[in-house]
Amino acid sequence: MDANVHALIEHYGVTANTMRFLDQPKRMFINGQFIDRNHELANVEDPSTGGCITQVPLGTTQDVDEAVAAAHHAMTEGEWSTFTPRDREQVLRRIAELIRENAQTLAEIESLDSGKAISGCKNVDINVGANTFEYFAGWATKIQGATRQTSFPVECTTYTRKEPVGVVGAIVPWNWPFAMAVWKLAAPLAVGCAVVLKPAELTSLSMLYLMELCVKAGLPKGAINIITGKGSTIGNHLVSHPGVSKVSFTGSTPVGKTVGAAAIQNVSHMTLELGGKSPMIAFEDADIDAVAASTLNSVYFNAGQVCSAGSRLYVHRSRYEEGIEKVKAVAQSIKLAPCLDPSGTMGPVISASQRNSIMGFIEKGKAEGARLVTGGNIVEERGYFIEPTLFADCTNDMTIVQEEIFGPVLVMIPFDTEEEALTLANDSIFGLAASIWTQDISRAHRLIPKLQAGSVWVNIHDPGDPSMPFGGIKQSGIGNDLGPEQLEHFLETKGVWIKV
Ligand code: NAP
Ligand code: MG
Repeated sequence: MDANVHALIEHYGVTANTMRFLDQPKRMFINGQFIDRNHELANVEDPSTGGCITQVPLGTTQDVDEAVAAAHHAMTEGEWSTFTPRDREQVLRRIAELIRENAQTLAEIESLDSGKAISGCKNVDINVGANTFEYFAGWATKIQGATRQTSFPVECTTYTRKEPVGVVGAIVPWNWPFAMAVWKLAAPLAVGCAVVLKPAELTSLSMLYLMELCVKAGLPKGAINIITGKGSTIGNHLVSHPGVSKVSFTGSTPVGKTVGAAAIQNVSHMTLELGGKSPMIAFEDADIDAVAASTLNSVYFNAGQVCSAGSRLYVHRSRYEEGIEKVKAVAQSIKLAPCLDPSGTMGPVISASQRNSIMGFIEKGKAEGARLVTGGNIVEERGYFIEPTLFADCTNDMTIVQEEIFGPVLVMIPFDTEEEALTLANDSIFGLAASIWTQDISRAHRLIPKLQAGSVWVNIHDPGDPSMPFGGIKQSGIGNDLGPEQLEHFLETKGVWIKV
């Protein structure tokens, strides 16, 4: 461990369990075991200092083959295949309990690995993981087909059976390493699938810790396998694997297109959860203080590295200058701090390359004529900190309005009519989410069907619960995570005819 990371940990303190985990060698988890094979290792960086925390193995295509075979065996012949729905419910509940018991350690590991402010990490990320396992535990005993009454001339008993789709290959990004991975695990396990999951190369640690908890919970071997390493090699091999029946991907739109093209070669099922550039629309009757306050969660949370970030704010011209002043005050109130500082409200962005990419967008915004209201600078200390940034007087043709920046950067644009607001909001290749801010319930209902987005929120941005589906339309994706809708993605429907 680098001296700067050590100093950070000494200063803020972490649990003995976190230290034990960080100090021990990291291993991939295949067929119920942490495997040790002299893999090449990659440094894991703490974005708050840029120092090395630990190392993770770089998996190979053979590891992927082995993990897929273990998952297949688990589903067909292993102990996992003998689990009744109630057994699956109980093991998922036990995993959720262990996540809650280990929430502090998990939050510390996640925070150090990703740079997330520890304050939000335990309450949001880790809590979302436990809630998601609990929610899908309840579904394990409620999977059902249907009987049908046909008009076929020969009398038959006809019914449908819901069967697990097969081995799931899951790939997740670095912005919500724990929560996004759990979104990929809980639903397929509930219906009896087995999963091979590849975390982002930058953020594998919380998944490796979760595997310790899964062993304690009694999850049968092969039900979950975690392979660590590079997307371009093992990620690509996993999504192209003929033994994988369902590809479940969360990440950027460009990589998602490659993944989808690979999956279709095997005619695998696929869910793609991709990028976004989600609008917030504040009308003349909006509670503008609430709009401004919501930017803390909508666009500045997690240093803006949120797929559903409300990163475009359209405000009615009559409230526009007032809106700018209020959002500016919120942006300036944010406390940038190293991840483990409990008083910090924003940590660093994930890496030097992400910081450079965000700064490139900020420069582009200035060059294209947007008005920089606040922020826009790198905070010149160790680590990858960028000031919460607000641009006003933007137009929809600007790069910073069209492209996903994935950083703490908000753009504001005035509008005059409801029709204009709708046109501007829908003028995007993305369609992940949108929020409407108004006191006029009729206007909200008029706009909900017309907004091109997988989720629409009124007078709130980015609420979440495992019972509500989350997914994108247009280039933001195909299919949903969460809710009963997600379960369907892991089930095949078999039609059965029995001549009477
Ligand atoms: P990314 O670059 O697309 O990477 C996502 C994952 O794909 C990583 O695990 C990556 O591995 C892997 N990967 C890369 N190339 C691959 C290939 N050829 N085949 C298979 N896997 C491959 O995305 P990111 O930069 O990590 O995350 C940010 C993006 O995720 C943003 O666009 C954000 O909007 C999106 N996101 C969407 C949602 C949603 O629900 N819609 C949620 C969260 C994030 P490596 O780490 O090794 O590159
Ligand atoms: Mg990446």
